[in-house]
Amino acid sequence: MLEANKVRLVMELRQQGITDQRVLSAIERVPREAFVPEAFHDQAYENTALPIGHGQTISQPSVVAFMTEALSIGPRMKVLEVGTGCGYQAAVLSGLCLRVYSIERFQELFRSTQKRLSELRFNNITIKWGDGLQGWFEQAPFDRLILTAAIKEIPKILFDQMADNGIVIAPLGKRADDQWLVKFFRRNNGEWGQESLLPVRFVPMLSGIVDENVDS
Ligand code: SAH
Repeated sequence: MLEANKVRLVMELRQQGITDQRVLSAIERVPREAFVPEAFHDQAYENTALPIGHGQTISQPSVVAFMTEALSIGPRMKVLEVGTGCGYQAAVLSGLCLRVYSIERFQELFRSTQKRLSELRFNNITIKWGDGLQGWFEQAPFDRLILTAAIKEIPKILFDQMADNGIVIAPLGKRADDQWLVKFFRRNNGEWGQESLLPVRFVPMLSGIVDENVDS
Protein backbone atom coordinates (compact mmCIF):
# COMPACT_ATOMS: atom_id res chain seq x y z
CA MET A 1 0.00 0.00 0.00
CA LEU A 2 2.65 2.52 1.07
CA GLU A 3 4.95 1.27 -1.71
CA ALA A 4 2.24 1.95 -4.32
CA ASN A 5 1.72 5.42 -2.86
CA LYS A 6 5.45 6.03 -3.06
CA VAL A 7 5.54 5.08 -6.77
CA ARG A 8 2.61 7.44 -7.34
CA LEU A 9 4.41 10.26 -5.50
CA VAL A 10 7.57 9.83 -7.58
CA MET A 11 5.45 9.96 -10.76
CA GLU A 12 3.83 13.14 -9.49
CA LEU A 13 7.25 14.68 -8.83
CA ARG A 14 8.29 13.81 -12.37
CA GLN A 15 5.15 15.46 -13.73
CA GLN A 16 5.93 18.54 -11.67
CA GLY A 17 9.21 18.90 -13.53
CA ILE A 18 11.77 17.06 -11.40
CA THR A 19 13.89 15.50 -14.12
CA ASP A 20 17.10 14.48 -12.34
CA GLN A 21 16.81 10.70 -12.05
CA ARG A 22 19.36 10.62 -9.22
CA VAL A 23 17.13 12.91 -7.16
CA LEU A 24 14.03 10.81 -7.90
CA SER A 25 15.91 7.62 -6.97
CA ALA A 26 17.19 9.20 -3.75
CA ILE A 27 13.59 10.04 -2.80
CA GLU A 28 12.49 6.53 -3.71
CA ARG A 29 15.07 5.05 -1.34
CA VAL A 30 13.92 7.00 1.74
CA PRO A 31 10.98 5.54 3.74
CA ARG A 32 9.14 8.81 4.47
CA GLU A 33 6.70 6.97 6.76
CA ALA A 34 9.59 6.47 9.21
CA PHE A 35 9.97 10.28 9.50
CA VAL A 36 6.37 11.21 10.35
CA PRO A 37 4.39 10.52 13.54
CA GLU A 38 2.50 7.22 13.60
CA ALA A 39 -0.86 8.98 13.14
CA PHE A 40 0.25 10.26 9.72
CA HIS A 41 1.72 7.03 8.32
CA ASP A 42 -1.06 6.61 5.80
CA GLN A 43 -0.38 10.12 4.47
CA ALA A 44 3.39 9.69 4.28
CA TYR A 45 3.46 9.70 0.47
CA GLU A 46 1.00 12.52 -0.09
CA ASN A 47 2.64 15.59 -1.49
CA THR A 48 2.08 17.67 1.64
CA ALA A 49 3.96 18.98 4.64
CA LEU A 50 2.96 17.22 7.89
CA PRO A 51 3.35 18.17 11.58
CA ILE A 52 6.26 16.59 13.48
CA GLY A 53 5.72 18.28 16.89
CA HIS A 54 7.25 21.41 18.45
CA GLY A 55 5.24 23.45 15.92
CA GLN A 56 7.56 22.17 13.17
CA THR A 57 6.83 20.26 9.97
CA ILE A 58 8.35 17.74 7.61
CA SER A 59 8.71 19.55 4.28
CA GLN A 60 6.49 18.83 1.30
CA PRO A 61 8.09 16.16 -0.96
CA SER A 62 7.94 18.31 -4.09
CA VAL A 63 9.78 21.10 -2.26
CA VAL A 64 12.40 18.64 -0.96
CA ALA A 65 12.82 17.33 -4.52
CA PHE A 66 13.02 20.80 -6.03
CA MET A 67 15.57 22.07 -3.51
CA THR A 68 17.66 18.91 -3.82
CA GLU A 69 17.69 19.19 -7.62
CA ALA A 70 18.57 22.89 -7.47
CA LEU A 71 21.63 22.07 -5.34
CA SER A 72 23.27 20.10 -8.24
CA ILE A 73 25.00 17.76 -5.83
CA GLY A 74 28.02 15.68 -6.81
CA PRO A 75 29.01 12.38 -5.18
CA ARG A 76 32.17 13.77 -3.49
CA MET A 77 30.47 16.78 -1.92
CA LYS A 78 29.95 17.85 1.69
CA VAL A 79 26.52 19.34 2.30
CA LEU A 80 25.38 21.41 5.29
CA GLU A 81 21.70 21.64 6.22
CA VAL A 82 20.38 24.17 8.73
CA GLY A 83 17.09 22.91 10.23
CA THR A 84 17.27 19.11 10.56
CA GLY A 85 13.71 18.66 11.85
CA CYS A 86 12.81 14.99 11.47
CA GLY A 87 15.80 14.40 9.16
CA TYR A 88 13.91 13.66 5.94
CA GLN A 89 15.68 16.21 3.74
CA ALA A 90 19.03 15.09 5.18
CA ALA A 91 18.17 11.48 4.36
CA VAL A 92 17.36 12.39 0.75
CA LEU A 93 20.61 14.37 0.44
CA SER A 94 22.64 11.53 1.95
CA GLY A 95 22.03 9.35 -1.09
CA LEU A 96 23.62 11.92 -3.40
CA CYS A 97 26.74 13.18 -1.67
CA LEU A 98 29.69 12.09 0.44
CA ARG A 99 28.52 13.47 3.77
CA VAL A 100 25.64 15.50 5.16
CA TYR A 101 26.02 17.74 8.20
CA SER A 102 22.81 19.06 9.70
CA ILE A 103 22.00 21.33 12.66
CA GLU A 104 18.79 21.49 14.73
CA ARG A 105 18.02 23.97 17.52
CA PHE A 106 15.43 21.86 19.40
CA GLN A 107 17.28 19.41 21.61
CA GLU A 108 14.41 16.94 21.70
CA LEU A 109 14.01 16.92 17.91
CA PHE A 110 17.77 16.55 17.58
CA ARG A 111 17.72 13.52 19.89
CA SER A 112 14.79 11.72 18.28
CA THR A 113 16.16 12.39 14.80
CA GLN A 114 19.62 11.16 15.74
CA LYS A 115 18.05 7.91 16.94
CA ARG A 116 15.91 7.57 13.80
CA LEU A 117 18.80 8.19 11.39
CA SER A 118 21.04 5.69 13.14
CA GLU A 119 18.30 3.04 13.27
CA LEU A 120 17.70 3.54 9.55
CA ARG A 121 21.46 3.35 9.00
CA PHE A 122 21.99 6.68 7.31
CA ASN A 123 25.65 6.46 8.20
CA ASN A 124 26.91 9.46 6.25
CA ILE A 125 24.76 11.99 8.11
CA THR A 126 26.19 13.83 11.13
CA ILE A 127 23.79 16.00 13.08
CA LYS A 128 24.26 18.34 15.99
CA TRP A 129 22.15 20.32 18.41
CA GLY A 130 22.97 23.99 18.01
CA ASP A 131 22.17 27.30 16.37
CA GLY A 132 22.56 26.64 12.66
CA LEU A 133 22.93 30.35 11.97
CA GLN A 134 26.48 30.00 13.25
CA GLY A 135 27.20 27.24 10.72
CA TRP A 136 29.57 24.39 11.60
CA PHE A 137 33.02 25.85 11.58
CA GLU A 138 34.86 22.58 12.42
CA GLN A 139 33.44 20.83 9.35
CA ALA A 140 33.73 23.72 6.85
CA PRO A 141 34.17 24.29 3.95
CA PHE A 142 30.90 22.98 2.51
CA ASP A 143 30.18 22.50 -1.18
CA ARG A 144 26.48 23.00 -0.69
CA LEU A 145 24.26 24.65 1.93
CA ILE A 146 20.53 24.24 2.34
CA LEU A 147 18.40 26.19 4.81
CA THR A 148 15.05 24.58 5.58
CA ALA A 149 13.52 27.44 7.57
CA ALA A 150 12.75 30.91 6.26
CA ILE A 151 15.09 33.78 6.93
CA LYS A 152 15.28 37.46 5.92
CA GLU A 153 18.90 37.37 4.95
CA ILE A 154 21.65 34.75 5.09
CA PRO A 155 24.31 35.54 7.72
CA LYS A 156 27.74 36.21 6.27
CA ILE A 157 29.23 33.60 8.60
CA LEU A 158 27.41 30.91 6.58
CA PHE A 159 28.75 32.19 3.24
CA ASP A 160 32.21 32.27 4.80
CA GLN A 161 32.01 28.51 5.41
CA MET A 162 31.38 27.73 1.73
CA ALA A 163 33.86 26.22 -0.73
CA ASP A 164 34.84 28.13 -3.89
CA ASN A 165 32.18 26.65 -6.12
CA GLY A 166 29.53 26.62 -3.45
CA ILE A 167 25.79 26.77 -3.98
CA VAL A 168 23.29 27.87 -1.32
CA ILE A 169 19.53 27.28 -1.43
CA ALA A 170 17.27 29.00 1.09
CA PRO A 171 13.70 30.23 1.58
CA LEU A 172 13.99 33.99 1.96
CA GLY A 173 11.28 36.29 3.21
CA LYS A 174 10.07 38.35 6.10
CA ARG A 175 6.53 37.00 6.29
CA ALA A 176 5.04 33.51 6.08
CA ASP A 177 3.02 34.51 3.00
CA ASP A 178 5.89 36.12 1.13
CA GLN A 179 8.80 33.72 0.82
CA TRP A 180 10.82 32.76 -2.21
CA LEU A 181 13.25 29.97 -2.65
CA VAL A 182 16.51 31.64 -3.64
CA LYS A 183 19.64 30.08 -5.11
CA PHE A 184 23.03 31.70 -4.42
CA PHE A 185 26.01 30.79 -6.59
CA ARG A 186 29.50 32.11 -7.21
CA ARG A 187 30.08 34.27 -10.26
CA ASN A 188 33.39 34.07 -12.15
CA ASN A 189 34.72 37.03 -10.18
CA GLY A 190 34.15 35.12 -6.94
CA GLU A 191 31.18 37.23 -5.85
CA TRP A 192 27.84 35.71 -4.93
CA GLY A 193 25.01 36.00 -7.45
CA GLN A 194 21.42 35.08 -6.71
CA GLU A 195 18.35 33.86 -8.50
CA SER A 196 14.76 33.52 -7.21
CA LEU A 197 13.27 30.12 -8.03
CA LEU A 198 9.72 29.81 -6.70
CA PRO A 199 7.36 30.94 -3.94
CA VAL A 200 7.38 28.68 -0.88
CA ARG A 201 6.11 28.53 2.71
CA PHE A 202 8.51 27.48 5.47
CA VAL A 203 8.50 27.82 9.24
CA PRO A 204 10.73 30.70 10.40
CA MET A 205 14.40 30.32 11.22
CA LEU A 206 14.93 31.32 14.84
CA SER A 207 18.20 32.05 16.55
CA GLY A 208 19.51 30.37 19.66
CA ILE A 209 18.95 26.84 20.90
CA VAL A 210 16.00 25.26 22.71
CA ASP A 211 16.67 22.96 25.64
CA GLU A 212 13.28 21.60 26.72
CA ASN A 213 14.71 20.44 30.04
CA VAL A 214 15.56 23.98 31.00
CA ASP A 215 12.59 25.76 29.38
CA SER A 216 9.88 23.64 30.99
N1 SAH B 1 14.51 19.72 7.02
C1 SAH B 1 13.24 19.29 7.59
C2 SAH B 1 12.26 20.43 7.74
C3 SAH B 1 12.55 21.13 8.96
S1 SAH B 1 11.44 22.38 9.48
C4 SAH B 1 12.68 18.15 6.79
O1 SAH B 1 13.44 17.42 6.19
O2 SAH B 1 11.48 17.94 6.77
C5 SAH B 1 12.66 23.54 10.01
C6 SAH B 1 13.51 23.14 11.18
O3 SAH B 1 14.46 24.17 11.36
C7 SAH B 1 12.76 23.01 12.50
O4 SAH B 1 13.00 21.75 13.05
C8 SAH B 1 13.35 24.12 13.36
O5 SAH B 1 13.44 23.81 14.73
C9 SAH B 1 14.73 24.28 12.74
N2 SAH B 1 15.39 25.56 12.98
C10 SAH B 1 14.87 26.80 12.98
N3 SAH B 1 15.82 27.72 13.24
C11 SAH B 1 16.99 27.04 13.41
C12 SAH B 1 18.34 27.41 13.72
N4 SAH B 1 18.70 28.69 13.90
N5 SAH B 1 19.27 26.43 13.81
C13 SAH B 1 18.94 25.14 13.64
N6 SAH B 1 17.69 24.72 13.36
C14 SAH B 1 16.72 25.65 13.24
